[in-house]
Amino acid sequence: MIRAEIAERGPMRLDRYIALCNAHYYATRDPFGRAGDFVTAPEITQAFGELLGAWCVSVWEGMGRPDPVLLAEAGPGRGTLMADALRLADRVAPGFAAAARVHLIETSPVLRAAQQTRLGGRVAAWHDDIATLPEGPLLLVANEFLDALPVRQILHDGRERAVGCEGERLVWTTLPAPGEPPGERGEAACAWVAALAARIARESGAALIIDYGHEGGATDTLQAVRGHAPADPLAAPGETDLTAHVDFAAVAAASRAAGAAVHGPVPQGTFLRALGLPERTAVLCRAARPGTARQLQAAARRLMDADAMGLVFKALAIAAPGLPAPPGFVP
Ligand code: SAH
Repeated sequence: MIRAEIAERGPMRLDRYIALCNAHYYATRDPFGRAGDFVTAPEITQAFGELLGAWCVSVWEGMGRPDPVLLAEAGPGRGTLMADALRLADRVAPGFAAAARVHLIETSPVLRAAQQTRLGGRVAAWHDDIATLPEGPLLLVANEFLDALPVRQILHDGRERAVGCEGERLVWTTLPAPGEPPGERGEAACAWVAALAARIARESGAALIIDYGHEGGATDTLQAVRGHAPADPLAAPGETDLTAHVDFAAVAAASRAAGAAVHGPVPQGTFLRALGLPERTAVLCRAARPGTARQLQAAARRLMDADAMGLVFKALAIAAPGLPAPPGFVP
């Protein structure tokens, strides 16, 4: 399909290439875990989803406990984060659990089925996009979602990075200068976040975005991963995970421009420590066998340590103006 489109229309812009590849990639597999391509925080420890559930409960209380409230997740993967969040809420905040209407934003039929298995009757509806979420106050979480959205790259000489074709093989090429400054542009992520922020400003609520990223100025963070190892982004289109680091400065600016308040970004390690990951891990360890306890401790360190996921991953909150600063972002 990619080769045919290039043959017909010429070199393909990078964002179009990423969009086509990732749509196929996620639609055809469960990519998580040891046997898959990569591992995400909710698959590393149950404490991650539990703490995000507690974050939602606390923000909900600061909003004046609206009932009903939409509890949404973008790109829920296997549904593990939401399952852990709901289990925590059922136990410590039954009022929130009863008020929450769970809506999942997911395009992959394979992963929708996994989420259905995991969450069953708790899900009110699935959506392709936030545009179809019902109206009303919203709490939304998105872990490693924005990194899957397409980016463009403008080279230093002004030309735009593109994908061409030589025989059967896909190759890097360029398109004429679009007249924009050099750098990597996460336009899809910014547009997505702007729509979310506008809705939150209008109807109240908050969103928590966690992803690997930077605060502007990056030139090439596109990466392909297959079987937990780096791969060539052009070698097996739709069979490798393509991601780019999130430009949190651009995402924050897009959110503010849409009328929402922005908190952070803060490093994931700082955020999870403030939410009590060490304490929650200690509690889980008390009830666990020694081997499991060691795994839980190692998992918590992996999420928090600066040389693992603690620094490159960041948390950003988007909130309706006037709400209290959410947990983990209080100065
Ligand atoms: N949040 C999960 C999964 C991250 S992987 C975790 O932390 O484990 C990215 C997720 O986003 C997958 O569920 C994928 O199917 C979904 N996704 C990717 N692109 C999407 C898009 N454009 N719209 C909706 N969902 C998308």
